Amino acid sequence: MVIAGAPGLELIGPVFERQRLRALALRTSSAAVRIATLRRLEAEIFRQRAALYEALHEDLRKPEAEVDLSELMPVIQEIRHACRNVAGWMAPRRVRPTRVMWGTRASVRAQPRGVALIIAPWNYPFNLALGPLVSAIAAGCTAIIKPSEFAPRTAALIGAIVAACFETDEVALFEGDAAMATALLDLPFDHVFFTGSPAVGRIVMAAAARHLASVTLELGGKSPVIVDRTADLDKAARSIVWGKFANNGQTCIAPDHAYVHRDSVTPFIAAVLRHLAAMYGEGGRSPDYCRIVTPQHFERIRRLIEDARARGATVHVGGVYDAADKFIAPTLLSGVPADALIMHEEIFGPVLPIVPFDDIGEPIRAINAQPKPLALYVFSRDAAAAERIIAQTAAGGSCVNAVMAQYLHANLPFGGINNSGIGSAHGHYGFRAFSHERAVLNDRFSAAPMLFPPYSRGVRRMIKL
Ligand code: NAD
Repeated sequence: MVIAGAPGLELIGPVFERQRLRALALRTSSAAVRIATLRRLEAEIFRQRAALYEALHEDLRKPEAEVDLSELMPVIQEIRHACRNVAGWMAPRRVRPTRVMWGTRASVRAQPRGVALIIAPWNYPFNLALGPLVSAIAAGCTAIIKPSEFAPRTAALIGAIVAACFETDEVALFEGDAAMATALLDLPFDHVFFTGSPAVGRIVMAAAARHLASVTLELGGKSPVIVDRTADLDKAARSIVWGKFANNGQTCIAPDHAYVHRDSVTPFIAAVLRHLAAMYGEGGRSPDYCRIVTPQHFERIRRLIEDARARGATVHVGGVYDAADKFIAPTLLSGVPADALIMHEEIFGPVLPIVPFDDIGEPIRAINAQPKPLALYVFSRDAAAAERIIAQTAAGGSCVNAVMAQYLHANLPFGGINNSGIGSAHGHYGFRAFSHERAVLNDRFSAAPMLFPPYSRGVRRMIKL
């Protein structure tokens, strides 16, 4: 049974209660059972591949190649990586006794947290709903998914995939908006995995605190890129254009704005214009160019561009709109004053402001004065300069001479820090997010009773400080 559409509020309580019971049974599920579940999910996803292209085209005008790269591949990679490794992740990890614990045997066991709630955003609606689900299944949890209301066709398709693979006591999906999410958050979930904005992340964490549910918060923010004097400008421009304009800039780890060494600004702008034309043709009128998700987001981004323009920013290309089509041409800005709105709000759209600097200390200070970003990218041929930037700043993750590639590396943790998130996703890190690491100590030789009262001198001598 899939609960689609707004009705369903009255059903979440009963489904949650059934999931609680099922979670008890899943606690002891074997790696083989979890792998079989993941394989079933994988097969169903491939069965629905054509429908997925259609849904994502309707929701976001995503081209098929981008669906493959950024929606399908990450989920399939998560499934295959988990299938290869879950037995190892589940195995109790023996730890050596410390001196005072001599004679005991101890291990750390990953146990499923229990019933998980997964709340997903609209920008990669398939990947960011099912990616965490893979980790939840690998960890042995049951899960309720609340997809975003702003990618409704994809939400319905995920519902169909879930319904084909699971009974609702194992995995269920409830469509709906903030009201549905709020109702779900009233329930005492064991873990809440939220992907979305920092503003809603705060609400989710406060709601989870009522039940002391653990949380993973995958949030956003302004992720800067630094292009230093030594950078390969052509490579930097090509990577940044791709990272910025894929999915119309609606990517949590997209480079938000670029700090470029003053000597390189002119050739960098020329390289960006060249790569923009090569990737998306003149003015972004290409089938590979997505659209803004809703009229509200379209207006928000238009306001950011027009505010910068009104404050004297130079528009090198773009600043062209078609409201009926939710189309904003790829836009490149420079000379943006520090107090412009666009320098303070996560852009989340196809607009790249360029900020010149003379000394590498300037962008480092500017970044450290802002909330810690989800990603920070560096383009440089000077290894010491790149290392200095990484060491002197904080960010969820970073790439040197690349953008967004950290997301696709299954052995790297993916997550933010403070304003950009709490906890990590992907691979073993995702498995651990949905697991409790339980300490188990076995006192084989009755070493502990020697510490009991009465505290004779002999006992005191045992406690060597
Ligand atoms: P959002 O925070 O508006 O919504 C995310 C989800 O929360 C949706 O399912 C929505 O229905 C739900 N929601 C909305 N209001 C709620 C409330 N009051 N209580 C509980 N749930 C509520 O985010 P969005 O607009 O869908 O996505 C864009 C944001 O997500 C950006 O900030 C982006 O950087 C971030 N993001 C982060 C990652 C990551 O992996 N770190 C990935 C994608 C997007």
